[in-house]
Amino acid sequence: MMVYAWLTATFISRTNFGTMKFQDSLLGWVSKGSSAAHYVKTRPPNRQPWSLESIRWMKRCLRDCYKHHATCAKLRQLLPVHQPPKYLIDLESAGDGRICIVDTKGVQEDNLHFSILSYSWGSGQTSKTTPGNLKQRLIGFPFTDLPLTIQDAMTVTQALGLRYLWVDAICIQQDSDRQLFQQQLDAVLGLYAQATVVISAACADHSDAGFLKPRNQHYHQYDLGLTILDNGQRLDSRITLLERGFKKQREPVDTRIWTLQERNNAFCSFRFESEQVLWQCQETTCADGEVDMLPPYPDAYNAPTFDGSIFPSMLSTISARYYEGNLRKYLEHVSDFSKRQYTYFDNRLDAFALSASSMAKNMG
Ligand SMILES: [Zn+2]
Repeated sequence: MMVYAWLTATFISRTNFGTMKFQDSLLGWVSKGSSAAHYVKTRPPNRQPWSLESIRWMKRCLRDCYKHHATCAKLRQLLPVHQPPKYLIDLESAGDGRICIVDTKGVQEDNLHFSILSYSWGSGQTSKTTPGNLKQRLIGFPFTDLPLTIQDAMTVTQALGLRYLWVDAICIQQDSDRQLFQQQLDAVLGLYAQATVVISAACADHSDAGFLKPRNQHYHQYDLGLTILDNGQRLDSRITLLERGFKKQREPVDTRIWTLQERNNAFCSFRFESEQVLWQCQETTCADGEVDMLPPYPDAYNAPTFDGSIFPSMLSTISARYYEGNLRKYLEHVSDFSKRQYTYFDNRLDAFALSASSMAKNMG
């Protein structure tokens, strides 16, 4: 027997008013060193998104993708060539608590490996690059001027061995004239595919929230004794059954208009969700905990689908079913977009125009 999923359990409650039966889904897990670990593959939820073990896991995900994923290697070769972003945050310039923005014209193309932060600004972004402070930011500024979510993205970027980070509020001149802003915006989508990795601050509801703090989720746990018969030998062990004590909410990053395109166009990404960090690339999906991502079917995440991103369509064969799928996905995309929030009405139009042009290209 191999336990690797949510279990359905029946609870019997005896009260003065009679006996009540109810069913619930529980996640069954055992710890790594347990004698049942060979049979029960699910491990406990990871409450520390920034533990040493988590960092090692993230590095392994990224390395495996670049070294061993045949699908990802093939798709990377097919990616259209995009101009590098005009500005990047240079993390190696950090000294005495200061960092700077670099103009990528001065950086050799081979060295332009960068991550991108996808995040929710919240009610207002406190630190923006504008025509007024650009000069100073190219020279250097205290990294504590940046909101916590951006500081956390810097920490992840450095841990993954990357030197540069792109963040919209810092690397696109905000408050610049409409034409310049539009030019910068048009170049943005390609960046998400071009980036070495996209870091999604999924659980952060504003730019100062951060996303690396320990997770404070409450689960109900039930410990049960487990006896294993292994080649005639009886081994006593324990299995823990886990039940959510809260309702799963949509992650804050999934409620904003801009982040939809960012998600769809990311070649590979780490999503720092409320309950887990999720790795997604064009070949695999996995998480640092297994609380929320167990797919209903073993290869559910690997099936090619059109989701508004350019990658799966590159590998799909053209068929009537494919176009049908496109239309369905388009409607889902519009529906998802309509539910999202925005700060300025103009932003909503810009984001949808960007989204529509990207989809038109992908649908041919
Ligand atoms: Zn990959």
